[in-house]
This record gives sequence, structure tokens and C-alpha cells, in this order.
Amino acid sequence: MRTHSKETQSSLTPAMALEILKEGNERFMNNLKANRNLLQQVNETAAGQFPFATILSCIDSRTSAELIFDQGLGDIFSIRIAGNILNEDILGSMEFATKIMKTKIILVLGHSRCGAIVGACNHVEMGNLTGLLKKIEPAINKETSTQNNRSGDNIEFVNNVTELNVLHTIERIRNESPIIMELEKEGLIKIVGGMYNVESGKVSFLAS
Ligand SMILES: [Zn+2]
Repeated sequence: MRTHSKETQSSLTPAMALEILKEGNERFMNNLKANRNLLQQVNETAAGQFPFATILSCIDSRTSAELIFDQGLGDIFSIRIAGNILNEDILGSMEFATKIMKTKIILVLGHSRCGAIVGACNHVEMGNLTGLLKKIEPAINKETSTQNNRSGDNIEFVNNVTELNVLHTIERIRNESPIIMELEKEGLIKIVGGMYNVESGKVSFLAS
């Protein structure tokens, strides 16, 4: 599999970019890696990069975007932070990745058994982590279906919050970045949410 060029990148639609991610995760799950020479890709990308996707995922060691979507060098702008939360700098990175570098899709990817979400559900406070986990609180407040045991021990509650956190992040991207909102309105990009299952390796895409 070759690295994307300016031509292959510009011929992609947002729907095709989503399809590439789906196919890549399918290969990953079936242990069918695309034939890719990473060292050759170093050469191919030395003079410039034409990635097709921007992915915001968790720092979790099991959720490396390039691996779970079977992509190579020069394919993905990978933004990683605990709990795949959003802040101004991340939004700035997304604006660079879409408006300037022309990636076709933004994927916000949460995952099962996320320590950051569990921590937020347990209202953990520790150093600088306190402020980060606070950013997950709106998703906890949006979870209204669980009455009892609204804590990190309740896997169903945690999973609901994880999904709501992805949707909340997408809502914030749209509300807080007129640049990205405009690109989406013009049909130049798509913003989608997904959930990665650390037990199966499968990414399920959310309706957003
Ligand atoms: Zn996580």
C-alpha cells in the first residue's frame, strides 16, 4: 500500500475517507495487515505529507490510531490525550489538519475500559489531572439513564458516559470552531464519532 499523494488525497471524498478507516479496522481485526514498507514511506513523505484523516483518541496504550486502522506513515494526523477531551490547542490542531492540510474526516474515538472516564466517574482529584477530568463532567451530567451506582465500578454507566463524551466533544468542535463548521457545511469534511472495543479490536461508528 502506497502513501497518499496530493492527487490521491484531493480525489477523496469524506465518505471515502470513512470507508478507508472502516476497511483498515476490518483488516486489523482479521490480522490482515496491508503490505506496507514503512522505510519506503519515510522517503515518500520526506518532502511533504497528504494525510486523509484526523483522529482524536485517548493516550491509552491500546488505542494507537495507526495500528487499529492499519495505516502507515503520512496517513493520519493523530491527536491523543487522556479521555479524548477537547481544548483550544487541540481544536487549533484540528483546524490546521483540515483547513490547511485538507484531511477529509475528523474522527473522535472513545474506547471501552477507559481509565480517564472511570476516573472522571469516580470524581478523582490529583494534580493537573483534576482539570482534565473536569472536562468529562458534562458527559457524566448528560447520562440520565443510570439512577443507581453512578460510579466507575458500573461498566454500563462508564460506557454510556464514554459514548456521550465522544458526542459532547463533536458538539464542541462544531460550536467552537467556525472554521471547521464551515468546512463541514461545504461538504469538504465529515466529523464522526467512534468507539473502540479493547477486547475485540473493533471500532463501532456512532451516528452523529
Ligand atoms: Zn482512555
